[in-house]
Amino acid sequence: MGSPGGGGNGDTRRDVAELSRAELETALADLGLPRFRATQIFRWIHRRGVSDFAGMTNLPAALRERLAGAFDIGTPRIVRKDVSSDGTTKLLLRLADGRDIESVYIPDTPNQTFCVSTQVGCAMACGFCLTGKMGLMRNLSAGEIAAQARLLAQETGLADAPFNIVLMGMGEPLHNYDATMKALRMLYDEEGLAVHPKRVTLSTVGVVPGLERLAGEPDMPNVAISLHATTDEARDALVPVNRRWKIRELLDMCRRLPLGKRRRITFEYVLLDGVNDTPPDARRLARLLDGLRAKVNLLPLNAAPGIPFARPSDARVDAFARILAESGVIVSVRKSRGRDIRAACGQLMVEGAGQKSAGQKAAARL
Ligand code: SAH
Repeated sequence: MGSPGGGGNGDTRRDVAELSRAELETALADLGLPRFRATQIFRWIHRRGVSDFAGMTNLPAALRERLAGAFDIGTPRIVRKDVSSDGTTKLLLRLADGRDIESVYIPDTPNQTFCVSTQVGCAMACGFCLTGKMGLMRNLSAGEIAAQARLLAQETGLADAPFNIVLMGMGEPLHNYDATMKALRMLYDEEGLAVHPKRVTLSTVGVVPGLERLAGEPDMPNVAISLHATTDEARDALVPVNRRWKIRELLDMCRRLPLGKRRRITFEYVLLDGVNDTPPDARRLARLLDGLRAKVNLLPLNAAPGIPFARPSDARVDAFARILAESGVIVSVRKSRGRDIRAACGQLMVEGAGQKSAGQKAAARL
């Protein structure tokens, strides 16, 4: 059988970076190739970060040429790399359709962490988040999500070292469920980066049906919930998705997540000066989480132009944390990383040439 795309003809070639290893085996079997070739190629792409068949030096030259005629290896292009004074590194990646996304490497927290995007922009419109101001342009594909980890692993030299992945970049992962889960399965693959599910954290605003599906996944990642408020009234305003799924419903769903013995759900709580950072808020938060296997991660706001909130003083942050701790809640305060390169939480926003949405333009003007 000839190569399916006929070679040379750009639009019908299959992108093998979008395929799970099982799918790659099938695609290669269609060309009469044995299974071990899929293992080799998957390893080259995902573990070694090779983005063209010519670099796959353990394949016969004729085969490399044939594969190059049949397939693409979709790889976002690094158009910019910013390194913060604290070592945090932000990649600006250009996708095949010209859209841009950002991915971040956060060193020594104490782990090495890759922060990965799941959408171009985001539809959730949280009041304090710059990505939310962009609106949603499109979902990322599984290959585009997995590629971010692959590129970060190559850029940092960590492909064979342990690292964590947090789905805390641009986008709402549970709003792009299938591509996100497929990307995770590709990242878990032992012939790829072999990331253990325990090293992955999926952060969500609380899309309850998505959490319901997640609860049934065989390899569920850790879960972080962006809670940010302790009353429905306040959360409706800050995290608009709360109008659909209320705090009670969200926390009930959290109680149904199957957690291993040592696992906890992280509750992220952005602290906005005078808005949600009062002692009564802290006490309500402790009560809400009562009986849940929870830990709280406080995120003092990363202020930005266009965000109508202020970062509370360290004293207010400490007072909030202390009330939680005294109520028996495990609490940490997230140290903001990479703020000088706008790589910190909620600051990922792409100002790509000629492709700004109305929301982006508005945010850029402010
Ligand atoms: N959509 C998912 C993934 C994004 S994670 C989610 O919301 O969970 C990014 C985290 O940073 C979220 O908890 C988000 O609420 C938080 N965040 C957004 N803007 C922020 C800001 N300006 N300062 C601090 N944290 C922010």
